[in-house]
Amino acid sequence: AAKGGGRGQYRFYSSEMKEGAKRRRQIEEDLRGVLDTAQLAMHYQPIVSADTRQVECFEALMRWNHPERGWISPAEFIPVAEDIDMIKPLGEWALLQVCRDACAWPEDVGVAVNISALQFECDDFPSKVEEVLIETGLEPSRLELEITESVFLGGSERTQRKFEDIKKLGVRLALDDFGTGYSSLSYLRTAPFDKIKIDQSFVRGCTEPGNNNPAIMSAIVNLAQALEMQTVAEGVESKDELELVIARGASHIQGYIFSAPLSQKDMLERSANGPLTFEARGPARYRAD
Ligand code: C2E
Ligand code: MG
Ligand code: MG
Ligand code: MG
Repeated sequence: AAKGGGRGQYRFYSSEMKEGAKRRRQIEEDLRGVLDTAQLAMHYQPIVSADTRQVECFEALMRWNHPERGWISPAEFIPVAEDIDMIKPLGEWALLQVCRDACAWPEDVGVAVNISALQFECDDFPSKVEEVLIETGLEPSRLELEITESVFLGGSERTQRKFEDIKKLGVRLALDDFGTGYSSLSYLRTAPFDKIKIDQSFVRGCTEPGNNNPAIMSAIVNLAQALEMQTVAEGVESKDELELVIARGASHIQGYIFSAPLSQKDMLERSANGPLTFEARGPARYRAD
């Protein structure tokens, strides 16, 4: 095996690359028709208040059950959808689905939807949101839109107007994956966010000695508090992480410590048994979601 190993290795990598390109092409092709199938679903992960330990809202996360490849992560297929101009139909489908689903939940529970920057940039985005609210009858204050710093690359004046149009509808705005983007802090001066989501990369490993994550978390929390915005610590998995992010002042917690994302069916079963509560339970395993 040692002899000619170099060539063997080259062939190995090149066939792996070929396999990757093939997978990408198939995902592209299948994404174009995916809305005509029943392969997409929205799942929901609880976001818990640090003060009350009640679930205030759920984040909607898209799931794709591919007939041949099984579950494909949105981290893989959302960027592809953005590349092939499928993100707008996919995003509009998700928004409608989520608002319909949330209408069947307890009335004091909100829902947060991820919005791609490309979808947000469309001129008709605020009116699409309004249409969906009217069509489903969901109380606007129960809807939160999660956007990332990349929306600020679209030019500040237009983006600012977009924010104002959306806030006028009465929906909430959250800044997702905070701290990982490439924008400056200047947009926080005027953008009307209700919530900042501290990216999981600051939570992961935060309890290990000698890392800067807790200090960064405190700084983000202080900034958010000064701007009267809430903070969600994302990706909290262990009791130690939970204690630390609460000590650092995060107002809300999301992560496997409380629950992985649930299907609508599981959600309804849980909410039928009285108030929705989730206990912190040690390091949880990644569910089939
Ligand atoms: P995100 O918006 O930052 O969502 C949080 C991600 O962290 C989700 O991954 C969630 O399942 C995962 N997560 C939650 N708690 C934990 C934890 O304790 N540990 C770990 N390791 N992970 C945790 P998911 O569902 O794979 O989604 C990945 C990304 O795909 C999302 O990141 C979001 O950017 C995008 N995405 C998902 N659904 C949609 C959608 O409907 N529309 C758009 N435009 N993007 C979406
Ligand atoms: Mg999100
Ligand atoms: Mg996030
Ligand atoms: Mg993320």
